[in-house]
Amino acid sequence: MSRGKLILRSKKDQAVRRFHPWIFSNAIKSQSGEVNDGEIVEVYSNKEKFLGCGHYQQEGSISIRMLSFFNEEWNEDIIATRIQRAYQTRIKANLLREDNNCFRLIFAEGDRLPGLIADYYAGFVVMQCHSSGMYYMRQNLADEIMKLEGVKGVYCKFASSLTKMYEDVDEPSLLAGEEFPEDLVAVENGIQFMIDWKYGQKTGFFIDQRDNRKLLGELSKGKKVLNTFCYTGGFSLYALKHEAELVHSLDSSQPALDIIDKSLELNKISSSNHKNICADAVQYIKELEVDYDMIILDPPAFAKSRHARHNAVQGYKRLNAAAMRQIKSGGIIATFSCSQVVDADLFYNTIVAAALSVEREVKVLSKLSQPADHPIGMFHPEGAYLKGLILEVI
Ligand code: SAH
Repeated sequence: MSRGKLILRSKKDQAVRRFHPWIFSNAIKSQSGEVNDGEIVEVYSNKEKFLGCGHYQQEGSISIRMLSFFNEEWNEDIIATRIQRAYQTRIKANLLREDNNCFRLIFAEGDRLPGLIADYYAGFVVMQCHSSGMYYMRQNLADEIMKLEGVKGVYCKFASSLTKMYEDVDEPSLLAGEEFPEDLVAVENGIQFMIDWKYGQKTGFFIDQRDNRKLLGELSKGKKVLNTFCYTGGFSLYALKHEAELVHSLDSSQPALDIIDKSLELNKISSSNHKNICADAVQYIKELEVDYDMIILDPPAFAKSRHARHNAVQGYKRLNAAAMRQIKSGGIIATFSCSQVVDADLFYNTIVAAALSVEREVKVLSKLSQPADHPIGMFHPEGAYLKGLILEVI
């Protein structure tokens, strides 16, 4: 079968020649042959030089996600090789241990599988397709993932990760291997977490905060901690394990909070100094009545696209200013942003603006980012999405 061909506008080939995996819709000049949503197409420069192959997507601003470039031969085996390599990267990073069996197995562009996310929970893998190309390949991807050592089953969730065209696609399903246990437990740095793979947000757990949870856990000893946007209590369990004086876990989702209690029980951690609070984070912080020593702010991505960036920045500023205004002198704020379109500099400057608006002295104790199982491809700086700052407010 001959592949569809897309020809780029003049000068629009520069990013692809530098191995950047995204081609935006405005870069495409013309097409020939069969060019269908989700299929692999060949990409050419304005002068018809071959640039590589990628998944074509009809909707959204990214039209092509490159799978191979001009310097490598494209064939289906590339996918299997990349899945194997992704697994090896995690093994090299020492993420599969007796006390840790929870990691991101495939991080899209970072593993040269754009559009594909897969998280590993004690041998059970939850996959999410963020492009129609990966969606159509899902069975093949699941079969390849099944070949990895220790993988017991692969479940695919896609309902919310695809474009409008796919809003009526079937519900998520088990693609390979054995049924997932209803009560799936994974271990992260020696702490057991109940993973809500079925009804939970994204793949069920936010693995990207693993290193930051460990660091903040160690800082929590003897402290009164407010963990806002806590989801299923990642930071809270670490803080309690490290003998925090008290921990309040706040989220707007009651089902997420309910899981914290189950995880506390699993770890035999007493809940006498822990409380769940189902509320809006900003509202709660504005009316703060407890003199917390540490406030953690880990909101969902405020901006999902460049158009939303301005409003997102205002959102981060409001949230951080509220926490800075309320926290006691000498208190610590750990603040995060997982919006890809808000880069580290913009996030930092936004936090500076928040500090200026409350007129308090603020020291930066640490700059945080994402762990090894969320690798950043050198040619895809956008892969660096998680930013964090540990601040002391005087
Ligand atoms: N820190 C978490 C991950 C946070 S994900 C961890 O370590 O696992 C973001 C969370 O913010 C979600 O659980 C979502 O339910 C919650 N959320 C979204 N809007 C909120 C709001 N206005 N107030 C409180 N929580 C909110």
